[in-house]
Amino acid sequence: MPLTEQQLPSKIDLLIRNAVIITMDLKNSVIENGFIAITGNQITNIGQDKSIDLSKYDVKRSIDLHGSIVHPGYIDSHIHLLYQPLRWVQKDGIHASDAMSVHSEYLNNITPEIEELSYQLASLEMAHNGTTCFLEANVINTNIAASAIEKIGIRAVIGTPGIKDIYEENSYFGPIKFSTNRAFDLIDRELTRNQNKNALVQGAISLHGMGTASDELLLHAKSIADKNNVIINMHQSYAEDDTASDYNRFNQHPMIHYEEIGFLGSNCTFAHVNFVREEEISPILKSGCSIAWCPLGSMMYGIGGTTEGKHSELYKKGAQISLGSDSANWTTSFDIGNQALIAILTAREKTKRPDALLAEDGLIMATKNGARALGLENKIGSLEIGKKADLIIRKNNLPEMFPQTDPIRSVIYSGKSSIQSVLVDGNFIVDNGKSTLIDENELYYKVNNLKKKYPFYEALFIE
Ligand SMILES: [Zn+2]
Repeated sequence: MPLTEQQLPSKIDLLIRNAVIITMDLKNSVIENGFIAITGNQITNIGQDKSIDLSKYDVKRSIDLHGSIVHPGYIDSHIHLLYQPLRWVQKDGIHASDAMSVHSEYLNNITPEIEELSYQLASLEMAHNGTTCFLEANVINTNIAASAIEKIGIRAVIGTPGIKDIYEENSYFGPIKFSTNRAFDLIDRELTRNQNKNALVQGAISLHGMGTASDELLLHAKSIADKNNVIINMHQSYAEDDTASDYNRFNQHPMIHYEEIGFLGSNCTFAHVNFVREEEISPILKSGCSIAWCPLGSMMYGIGGTTEGKHSELYKKGAQISLGSDSANWTTSFDIGNQALIAILTAREKTKRPDALLAEDGLIMATKNGARALGLENKIGSLEIGKKADLIIRKNNLPEMFPQTDPIRSVIYSGKSSIQSVLVDGNFIVDNGKSTLIDENELYYKVNNLKKKYPFYEALFIE
């Protein structure tokens, strides 16, 4: 329930008025002619413009949106920030494993400068496309990553990178392998970030995936996640071959194995899960685990996740399906709105049903289900009192946004070019389509200059 006028803080730092607000609250309510009051980094009131006498309050800044759409920032629940400089360096149309082959050469020679530029570029790309928070899957130096992410101004959850105690023969994500005991020591390293509740970058538990973790490591990781009330994040069943190798190892499908050893829980977030057998559906639903669906991450390499995967069926049965961009060469751009659109359309094609998924389902996956996948559902994912003021303001001067009929369909189906501003913690981090915090041209110049500076990197480019 909205606060009464007496409860509203007397100071409002930012007042957004005259907006069409898609709240993504429990009922996905839309408020026409709405206002959002922001004090500090929080939403302190939200409702209909006419419902409140604002002359009583000390309003620092007020903006009239003239009917523009406002909705919660997008949440990307599976992304690798490390591979931006590799975007399109290889031939088009190659197999996913060949595309990955360039990763080891890159990771063996990468410098802190390249790392930092990659993290900044990736974060900026997300910010432009309305992502206000994401779940990172494997950086190298988490401190370099955190400072780059903070420079762009978005929110993130990261874990200790590369925690594996089984060596992966064909690992493309770097040769890191710890003894089980060493992995135990390192696994909670990033949780110290959570001492500062207001820090943009928070810590969680990360493993690479089932294929590189012993059951002992899995269960230890889960117990640390439970104890600290954070999520545990890992890859699962991306392609047929890794799914088959997990099966062969345990003589069981992966989700069944997870359930049997007592690993599965609502704080487990699995990336991809493109291959699911019927028997795995029940453990997924019972546990309440999250699945970060990366439709383009499958489609770019013809993996089969959108034709053979069961994401939309699982979603319809109540599974926590969110969305992810995966990696520079595994998507068209870091744009969760676009992933939502692709998810909806492929589900319709696969099932030959126009109601397989609706625009509203896409927005649920892109916002509140993302928040849940990151373990941040109490802080972000919807526009409600007490939540962080992370939101997107849409343009209201684009032909494809007219007539103003269904705002959710406008955003998901026609919203590609319509982002005007992006706010995190009540601060504009993107305004008029540009970062308010960094000199974008300087960043682009530095990225382009990497080829001149690093011969190993230039050598990665195809002729
Ligand atoms: Zn991944």
